[in-house]
Amino acid sequence: MTSLRTLCVTGAAALTALAVTLAMPAIAQEAALATAPDAAPADDLVVTLLGTGTPALHSDRFSSANLVQAGGLNLLFDAGRGATIRIKQAGLNIGQIDATFLTNFHSDHVNGLADVFMTGYIRVPYIGTRQEPFQLYGPIGTQKLADGLRMTHQWDIDTRILDEQIPEPATRIEAHESESGVVFEQNGVKVTAFPVKHGDKIENAIGYRIDYGDKSVLISGDTTFDQNVVEFGRDTDLVIHEVGMAVQDMMDSPAVQTALAHHTSPEDVGRVFAAAQPDFAVYSHMVLMGNPPVDELITRTRTTYDGPLVIGKDLMQFRLSDQGTSIQVLKE
Ligand SMILES: [Zn+2]
Repeated sequence: MTSLRTLCVTGAAALTALAVTLAMPAIAQEAALATAPDAAPADDLVVTLLGTGTPALHSDRFSSANLVQAGGLNLLFDAGRGATIRIKQAGLNIGQIDATFLTNFHSDHVNGLADVFMTGYIRVPYIGTRQEPFQLYGPIGTQKLADGLRMTHQWDIDTRILDEQIPEPATRIEAHESESGVVFEQNGVKVTAFPVKHGDKIENAIGYRIDYGDKSVLISGDTTFDQNVVEFGRDTDLVIHEVGMAVQDMMDSPAVQTALAHHTSPEDVGRVFAAAQPDFAVYSHMVLMGNPPVDELITRTRTTYDGPLVIGKDLMQFRLSDQGTSIQVLKE
């Protein structure tokens, strides 16, 4: 890796100092200097935020997606808009994704899924080359989504098999539906799903905890305050949590009120962080309606939580190693 401004953290004092630093968005932007790293050492768990945004159209914050690399596996969590671009920027070909996990079926979590699935089977080494069926994990409804995806794109599947001789198994999707318990275990990597409460009328929303050796990360998925996130996030290295807030002028809007009712306020996320006490608390999937200043997000979070806090940005990468955790932001 080159031109890297890596922040290594090993002790509690350093953690506190880093929290202050990384809570400042300008500093996080300044750190955007690294190229995609070489393969991770065998014991490392590497988490890359691929999309920290929402359905809102921002070129610097794509929709929800996270890459988790451990045990020689490349695992994608959500496939929002632009996921394929960010995967490439993180140094992988699309066909190198071993499994994809969905937290819910809202558009901002799945609208890059067709791209990951179909680009992955293109038989050009620098693009795709997945030979095996696409492995898709998610809540109840994942099979239906997979069937619909293949049906929608049957022409591409049939034509490429006939014309380009892509292997037929690569065009299949193996759907795995589960909303709780261990859903994946391979090469020492364990993925556990747990239900979360996204909204009164929103079913099939889950979060995930990923364990590899003594390293662990939790991805909240889209949720309101949920004790499950606290329980599964307890003593993890990273808790990556969504958050929702709006500028005061928009608070009277029924649409904004509905949206906020589907997400966790900064104060409540702070309560989750304070109870779970991860080594790093990370904001991603930030629903910031009307563009409230990030300083306000931090200030509101600090009313309930005073530990290490990181404001995520696209291509921010956390490397959990036996020497501690380092953070860098990959070049776009
Ligand atoms: Zn969402």
